[in-house]
Amino acid sequence: MNRRYRKTIIAGNWKMNKTPAEAKTLIADIKTAVGKQKWCDVVLCVPFVDIANAVKAAKDSRIAIGAENMHFEKSGAFTGEISADMLKELGVKYVIIGHSERRQYFAETDNTVNLKIKAALEAGLRPIVCVGETLEQREAGITEEHIAMQIKLALAGITAEQLRKIVIAYEPIWAIGTGKTATSEQAQEVCAHIRTVIRNLYGARLARAITVQYGGSMNAKNAAELLAQPDVDGGLIGGASLKAGDFALIVEAANQ
Ligand code: PEP
Repeated sequence: MNRRYRKTIIAGNWKMNKTPAEAKTLIADIKTAVGKQKWCDVVLCVPFVDIANAVKAAKDSRIAIGAENMHFEKSGAFTGEISADMLKELGVKYVIIGHSERRQYFAETDNTVNLKIKAALEAGLRPIVCVGETLEQREAGITEEHIAMQIKLALAGITAEQLRKIVIAYEPIWAIGTGKTATSEQAQEVCAHIRTVIRNLYGARLARAITVQYGGSMNAKNAAELLAQPDVDGGLIGGASLKAGDFALIVEAANQ
């Protein structure tokens, strides 16, 4: 973390977990458990059907509600899809874009990621853009190349002003939901690389200001060490965001 230049953001990704009633209870518990965090922003990205309850439950707290996905078109014949304006009207502030599970199971591409980022920004939502390598890519020594390409394609046509609203999450695919966390050195190395890619595209000031999160089996035990790395500005947290106590400990680690 480097609080002098950028915001630390701890974001939960509930994935396909929790009904609307369960969301209400979990957010009430998280609200009590996280208390008045001073140094970091807290975001909970929840399933579409939970959003209305989540926004209500998070009222009068510093917890912002996010969505886990959205469509890039404003409206139209896209059965089963949700637009950025629909999310905005419900009180959503953030949206995860290009999570590896979306890329893997729902055929999202770098191009749809780019279109979604633009649509989210246009609606006034802050995109949390996920990038990350597979184990094969890491073992082949092409992690940095792959991530640079994902970022360049995701940000094609995004202005410097728009970049200020974007959060990037480095999520090595081999670490998501596997219990296998990247070492703090690996997380730092790739988050620093992401900042270098941003510097080459947008210059040093914006690179210094952008929040780069780490995601991949972050938990109450390993959070402090990961967050102590200078280029790791927060976390995108799956499993551990479903337990109020564990999530609160991660938030606490970000406040040290
Ligand atoms: C995620 O879903 O983005 C994630 C990092 O999951 P987990 O923390 O469970 O690995």
